[in-house]
Amino acid sequence: MSSLLLGGLTGLCAELGDLVKQQMSVSFDASGQRLHVCTTCTFTAKVTSNLRSHVEAKHLGGLMYKCSMCLFQAKTWQTMLGHTRKDHGVTQYKS
Ligand SMILES: [Zn+2]
Ligand SMILES: [Zn+2]
Repeated sequence: MSSLLLGGLTGLCAELGDLVKQQMSVSFDASGQRLHVCTTCTFTAKVTSNLRSHVEAKHLGGLMYKCSMCLFQAKTWQTMLGHTRKDHGVTQYKS
């Protein structure tokens, strides 16, 4: 593990975020509806956060988000967001 991974949630988010973005693309369906598509498999989602969860769960399964305020770890960004909201009262991340 590089020292970057120990730099708290913000640094970790940026690093994981880049990996996630590399596997996310945008397309349009037959009716012109914007779709977020996975570049690794055939998964599509109408909202970015769903695609992001998919990529994190299916293609970045070994990577973990670590809470900077406690020892909690999560596999997906949404789970970590839920944790910090519930346990630490954090409502928004500065990205
Ligand atoms: Zn996929
Ligand atoms: Zn925590």
